[in-house]
Amino acid sequence: MSDNITGFMGFEEFLSQAGTVICNKTKPYLIAAADVGDFHYINAECGYDIGDAVLKAIADFLRLFLPNMVLGCRSHSDHFIALVCIEDVDSERVLREVQRLKEMLKEIIANTAKGISPNLNVGIYFLHDSDSNIVAAVDKANIARRTCKGNYNLPCVVYSEHLMDIKENSAKILPLFDDSFRKEAIRVYLQPKISSETKKIVGAEALSRLVDSEGNVIPPSKFIAALEKTGKIVELDFYVLTFICKLIRKWIDNGLEPVTISFNLSRIHFYSNTVVEDICKLAEKYNVPPQYIEIEVTESVFFEASEMIVSKVNQLRDYGFKVSVDDFGTGYSSLSLIGVLPVDVVKLDKSFVKESLKSERGNELMKGLIRILNEIHLEIVCEGVETEEEERVVSSYGCDEIQGYLYDRPIPTDEFENKYIH
Ligand code: C2E
Ligand code: CA
Ligand code: CA
Repeated sequence: MSDNITGFMGFEEFLSQAGTVICNKTKPYLIAAADVGDFHYINAECGYDIGDAVLKAIADFLRLFLPNMVLGCRSHSDHFIALVCIEDVDSERVLREVQRLKEMLKEIIANTAKGISPNLNVGIYFLHDSDSNIVAAVDKANIARRTCKGNYNLPCVVYSEHLMDIKENSAKILPLFDDSFRKEAIRVYLQPKISSETKKIVGAEALSRLVDSEGNVIPPSKFIAALEKTGKIVELDFYVLTFICKLIRKWIDNGLEPVTISFNLSRIHFYSNTVVEDICKLAEKYNVPPQYIEIEVTESVFFEASEMIVSKVNQLRDYGFKVSVDDFGTGYSSLSLIGVLPVDVVKLDKSFVKESLKSERGNELMKGLIRILNEIHLEIVCEGVETEEEERVVSSYGCDEIQGYLYDRPIPTDEFENKYIH
């Protein structure tokens, strides 16, 4: 049965025909799997008719601009699969081509969907001579597609066996997370933020860790992606927020001077209608003055700069929380965007800081950037500062706060309290 919206063949038909092609292949082929990041947001904001029009526009685009597509289908919702004939297996060339097509397609989607320009996740699997199982090949393209999510720097991900390891890792991580969550055994570490002027602590960031049954501490790089994929990141972030509310309450009750603690709010929260209310309710439950809580929102969330996100961030700030743009410099940072964003703090990402400090031009760029951010009264935190020299340089450029191994790594709360809270 063909698909009413796109006119493509159905998924079963695709598998059957593609299976025949790959069993008799004399030329190289690849399978591409693609989906529209946060497609449900287009449906929610613009209505289902426009959602359908976007799907049709994608199919028309593929027919027109992917002439080597032998077969294409929409497997379900906003997920597309294509079997493409290629001249040779050259991943560099494929990456460049995907990048070019994505840019064109994003513009077409924006024109169809009231200016919303979502990210497109694309996974590629190059078929080997020995590949005869089409379902397994499509699975591999989909594994690659899923690892693309949330990574705005990549045009697409090409499948490799290494990605399989990530998938297996998720199978271990999710039960460990569920168990730690139930037992309230997720660890929350704190990393201090130090004023460049006074060298005194002015805040801290809460960062989570899991601990496995052998007592090994598992870093976020091993579990955040899996939690984002399953939506469980929402539970984690509220766990961390609850933890810091209790901690600040305890400090106040014991007559100690609290510092503002920030936590990471994943992009997924912004699709919840109650996120603002939920956060405020927690602060109220523990009677924590909102100025002691800061919310870190990763830069890429703001790319959309949709009214929905801006309005939620505004409500959080109106309530009295500080809001920071996290990971600044890792995506397509836009200065014009920063000018209109309702935020208090910009956190320069450690990779951006490290890269900039390497060259003269990089230094100049960072100096100029910090100056501009200062002029529009944004607070600036430099992450990943590891040496005194780095600290000296970024402070001389006008950076307000330092967060980095030079002062401390993220440390367990009791250690943090002994060292910093008096
Ligand atoms: P992030 O928000 O950018 O946090 C800063 C990361 O930089 C932390 O890694 C910190 O340990 C590391 N870092 C700080 N200073 C230095 C330095 O001088 N050198 C180097 N090499 N690294 C430094 P961590 O704790 O591994 O966390 C990684 C990322 O995982 C965080 O990046 C954040 O995006 C995410 N994450 C951690 N905990 C949570 C959480 O509870 N919720 C959410 N949504 N994300 C979390
Ligand atoms: Ca952060
Ligand atoms: Ca960061």
